[in-house]
Amino acid sequence: MDQTIPNDLEAYWMPFTANRQFKKAPRLLVGAEGVHYKTIDGRTLIDGCAGLWCVNAGHSRKEIVEAIQAQAAAMDYAPPFQFGHPKAFELASRVAEMMPGDLDHVFFTNSGSESVETALKIALAYHRAKGEAGRRKLIGRVRGYHGVNFGGMSVGGIAPNRIAFGTMLPDVDHLPHTHNLEKNAFSKGQPEWGAHLADELENMVALHGAPTIAAVIVEPMAGSTGVLVPPVGYLERLREICDKYGILLIFDEVITAFGRLGYGSAAERFNIVPDIMTVAKGITSATVPMGAAIVRKGIYEAFMTGPEPMIEMFHGYTYSGHPLAAAAGLATLDLYRKEKIFENVREIEPYWEDAVHSLKDRPNVIDIRNIGLVGAIELAPRAGAPGARGYDALVKCFQSGALIRTAGDVIVLSPPLIYQREHVDQLVSVLSDVLGKLD
Ligand code: PLP
Repeated sequence: MDQTIPNDLEAYWMPFTANRQFKKAPRLLVGAEGVHYKTIDGRTLIDGCAGLWCVNAGHSRKEIVEAIQAQAAAMDYAPPFQFGHPKAFELASRVAEMMPGDLDHVFFTNSGSESVETALKIALAYHRAKGEAGRRKLIGRVRGYHGVNFGGMSVGGIAPNRIAFGTMLPDVDHLPHTHNLEKNAFSKGQPEWGAHLADELENMVALHGAPTIAAVIVEPMAGSTGVLVPPVGYLERLREICDKYGILLIFDEVITAFGRLGYGSAAERFNIVPDIMTVAKGITSATVPMGAAIVRKGIYEAFMTGPEPMIEMFHGYTYSGHPLAAAAGLATLDLYRKEKIFENVREIEPYWEDAVHSLKDRPNVIDIRNIGLVGAIELAPRAGAPGARGYDALVKCFQSGALIRTAGDVIVLSPPLIYQREHVDQLVSVLSDVLGKLD
């Protein structure tokens, strides 16, 4: 009998990856500490995208690791339906406290995608609970990313994520995106042009009728599509129109919450309170999968009617508020506060902005965008091969000592929030080198 344990690269069907290409030339990571990764061949990489926009507190932080270990030893799991455990309640209170306005009830999930599905379902059920069952339409935005499940895919606006799958939710429409190189190329922070694009929501109200529209979902800063920073006044306008017509505004803050823009949320930075906020990633600094939909008081209260023994919302996950995730979340929030990690983002943002924009004159660069500790360098696509130049940049950066992410031909940067100036310099120096070598 063959005693060997099978272990080749074939069995694992990798997500959002060119599997055949990867398996011919794998990029395997085996260790991580602070702002660095270790590769399987012993090289050190500077982490230019916090894993996947998520390792906000830096890698392998002792305080978080120990909290997870202690929780696993004390109680591995507790059922979240009709039972609870103290840390989930404590984390919900701490998250609610961090969020602006009366965003003060937290429904736990295990990922950004699940947070989005949860938020969309809450929006639909909320209107039903209020006697407005006709409000079924969900409005997303072109180039929006809201995860990969059916709801998120439907309100999302990234074509390849949709077209292979055919069936979508009915009753969905999309606002236009806000990207415009002619008007806004090389903007620092929020671009000046584009607030009027929110007025398209007025046109949709005119077309469909306000009593049919349940919610609008947008990323306050669109990340996965290649970083689209909201134009000055744009989000304010969306909030205004939603208020005018009784439409719920959902901010998908899976990337932006927990410090990415220097605050607990983008909502806080932009001073706009959405009705529902979706989060994930930074809530545990990615150590244990966790997400949440956070709702305003009035939404929660709309469900708390009917006989008390009745379940108010038939929704939830086996791992909602998982003890290991809750322990990790509490330790992560402690670190954010103790080390003033969000403040660090605010402090380093101007230095980061200058450093990223210093790449303006490198070959093929057609735009650079930034906000908080996020940056994007858009490259001209090669004729007939969109995305090829971006992919080459990713591979060359990996070979030259930096882990970056690309969205087509856009290099996307979102480092751990503990970056210091020397790390910014290190990352930008690799990028400068690689951009000089790209054909
Ligand atoms: N929503 C936004 C705005 C995201 O950026 C992401 C992931 O990057 C998601 C949802 C999906 O999150 P997950 O991959 O955890 O399902």
